[in-house]
Amino acid sequence: MISANITSLLATYIDALHILHHHGVLDGYGHLSVRHPDNPPTFFMMRQVAPALVSGLDDIGEYRVSDAEPVHPDTPAAPIERFIHSELLKRYSDVNVVLHGHPNELIACSIAPEARLKPVIHMAPFLGSNVPIFDIAALYQPSDTQDFLVRNQRLGAALAAEFGGSSDSPYPPHNLVLMASHGFAAVARDIKLATYMGVYAVANARVQSQALQLQQVAGMGHAPRAAGDDIVYLDERQIRDSWETEIRTVEKPWGFWVREVRVDPLYVNELGRE
Ligand SMILES: [Zn+2]
Repeated sequence: MISANITSLLATYIDALHILHHHGVLDGYGHLSVRHPDNPPTFFMMRQVAPALVSGLDDIGEYRVSDAEPVHPDTPAAPIERFIHSELLKRYSDVNVVLHGHPNELIACSIAPEARLKPVIHMAPFLGSNVPIFDIAALYQPSDTQDFLVRNQRLGAALAAEFGGSSDSPYPPHNLVLMASHGFAAVARDIKLATYMGVYAVANARVQSQALQLQQVAGMGHAPRAAGDDIVYLDERQIRDSWETEIRTVEKPWGFWVREVRVDPLYVNELGRE
C-alpha cells in the first residue's frame, strides 16, 4: 500500500509522460524519473514501455540512486538508459526529476554546432546562453557497445558532469544538455517544471530553426553573414528575468495540458481519476 502523497506524485508523473508524448517531446522511447520524496536514495521510473502507455503502478518501479538497480526483486525491468537518471540524481542532491528523450528538433541541434541551441523565445530561458553538447562517442572504450545509449554508471556520470558545477553542487548550472546524434537530458526540481522544459525546449528549437532558415533565404544575394549568428537571441538579462517570470506561471499551462491528455482516450491514468 502506498501513501496518499506518493499516489498523488505518481498520478502527476503519469500525466507528465502523457503530456510529453502529446507534445512530441517523447515518442515510443524516452523516459522520466522522480526522486522518492520520503526516501531520497531511491527514485521512481517507468518500466520498459512507451511513455504514452504508462497507466498505473504496474508500470512504475522504485530503483536505487546508487546503482539504478530495483529496490524490490519483482520490479519490472527498467529502461536500458536508467543510468542517466541514477547518476544525475546521485550527483545533484537538489535535482528531483530527470527527463530524457529524442525529439528530432533537439537531435538536429546536437549535430549542428555552428547553430547552437539558444533561447529565442521567452518561454525557454532555462536553456541558458550556452547549452552543452554531450558527445558520448569521445568516451567510448573498445569494449563498449557504441550505440549512443547510456548503458552504465561510467557513461551516466560523464553525462551528469556535463551539467556543470563542482562534484558537491546541489544543483547544476545547466538545466538541459544535448546528447549528440541522440537527444537530450534535462533536470528539474519538480515534475511540472521538467514537463515545461521539455515542451518549450522543443518549441524553441523549432522556432530557432525556422528563423535561421528564413534569415538565410532573406539574405540570399547579399554578402554572407557569420554562420548561425544572424538571428535575435535573448540576452543574459532577458534570460534571467524571463525565467523568474516563467517559473511562477507553470501551473497555467499544466492545468490545460492535463485536461488535454485526460480527455484523449489514448492516455490512461489509473491514479488520476477524480
Ligand atoms: Zn536515449
